[in-house]
Amino acid sequence: MRHRFTCEDILSLLFEYLDQEIEEEVIYSIESHRSSCPYCSKVIRTYRLIIQCLKDTEDKDVPESVHKSLLKIILREFQE
Ligand SMILES: [Zn+2]
Repeated sequence: MRHRFTCEDILSLLFEYLDQEIEEEVIYSIESHRSSCPYCSKVIRTYRLIIQCLKDTEDKDVPESVHKSLLKIILREFQE
């Protein structure tokens, strides 16, 4: 069974998605939404890049609170 995700669903799952702490089924649904939605695609790309930078600089896992604030900032940036 395949889930149908809205943009909002995707964004609320981003943390788990990037940490790969979710079922493959869900990852698949996110991927398929993302490939057809330029907005989510842009948000995920930016989010992932920044998290990667943080991980490289800090050399440790980024806490969930940081993820959440980061996401808020990105969403505000991308709001049109
Ligand atoms: Zn979307």
